[in-house]
Amino acid sequence: MSEFLPYARQDVDDDDVRSVVEVLRSGWLTQGPAVEAFEEALAHSVGARFAVATCNGTAALHAAYHAAGLGPGQVCLTTPITFAATANAALYLGAGVDFADVDSDTALLDPEATARALGPATRVLAPVHMAGQPADVVALRALADPLGAVVVEDAAHALGAEYFDTAANEWVPVGACRHSHMTVFSFHPVKQVAMGEGGAVTTNDPELRERLLRFRDHGLVRDPRHFEEPDPGPWHREMQSLGMNYRASDLHCALGRSQLRRLPDFVERRRAIAARYDTAFAGHPHVQPLAQRATARSSHHLYVVQLDVDAGVDRRRVVEALHARSIGAHVHYLPVHLHSWYRKERGFAPGAFPAAERYYARALTLPLFPAMSDADVERVIDALLSVLENR
Ligand SMILES: *Cc1c(COP(=O)(O)O)cnc(C)c1O
Repeated sequence: MSEFLPYARQDVDDDDVRSVVEVLRSGWLTQGPAVEAFEEALAHSVGARFAVATCNGTAALHAAYHAAGLGPGQVCLTTPITFAATANAALYLGAGVDFADVDSDTALLDPEATARALGPATRVLAPVHMAGQPADVVALRALADPLGAVVVEDAAHALGAEYFDTAANEWVPVGACRHSHMTVFSFHPVKQVAMGEGGAVTTNDPELRERLLRFRDHGLVRDPRHFEEPDPGPWHREMQSLGMNYRASDLHCALGRSQLRRLPDFVERRRAIAARYDTAFAGHPHVQPLAQRATARSSHHLYVVQLDVDAGVDRRRVVEALHARSIGAHVHYLPVHLHSWYRKERGFAPGAFPAAERYYARALTLPLFPAMSDADVERVIDALLSVLENR
């Protein structure tokens, strides 16, 4: 029996281990220098002015939506094809959630559908760079601006990805926030860079950064120049707003910073594997890789194909047959509006977002992570092709 191949897995090397051990011996387990060092490295890596590290990506979304001023009576508009956290984080703030449909070939927010769904209550527009491919943030920002909506990119999949800015005639890294106010990352071990648990928000706006920092740390203000009440002494910290404890520890940040150094190699390897899959499935009648936009360069968090279910391919049987061959095929994602809670509590029903539902019915995720060997990749290809042949 071959070794089980998960759909994603971290790659931790000796340097990563050394970085964490150094912090363990340093005297700072949290709120120490490794946090800022990681934030600086991340901001530099994506070309943003600031990065604020958090304890996970969901906390980063919550903090970003809070910083955007999202609250009751307002709406966060996002895509149904995402991890539920993108939508849930808006509900933590008492805001509403709505969805715009996707392009079923890319699983990315469709700007036309988005234009129809945007309204005066939309405070946040949150595109998701599904599978690592940047959504059309240039178009989406142009739609959000007239309404004063804040654009928060959910780039949990897309560290290391780029998109083309036609006006400036150059490629822009995701996270630079050139067409958004904030970008959110996750460093869960399945993502491009692993922290165990970790997340971050990048921004170019010093005011948003300040709001993110306060929210991360109980809403506390430490700088006496910003106190609202008289300063009783050097011990004083003033809680001016309600925040959370969403801090990232020095241990996690040390791992994140060490992993960031390897990001270019990780992305290169991910792209090579995706290219091999593309070649293997090109022209196959029943398997179609997710379409790639000409103005996007994916960092390939996930390798998603669409199965031809109309021709009778039974996805459940394909996934079970791959599992039987120790291949961790998966499906990303059940459209958020079809989760049981969203149906019960928010009244969403099947048919609300047909392109997203069509995408989901056909979606299959194959293993893709940098530590996969070429032989692993061939094993996945052979298995899928043979499963489809013998269906
Ligand atoms: C992973 C993920 C998140 C949440 O990140 P966590 O670090 O797991 O909290 C949010 N959005 C998307 C699209 C994700 O894939």
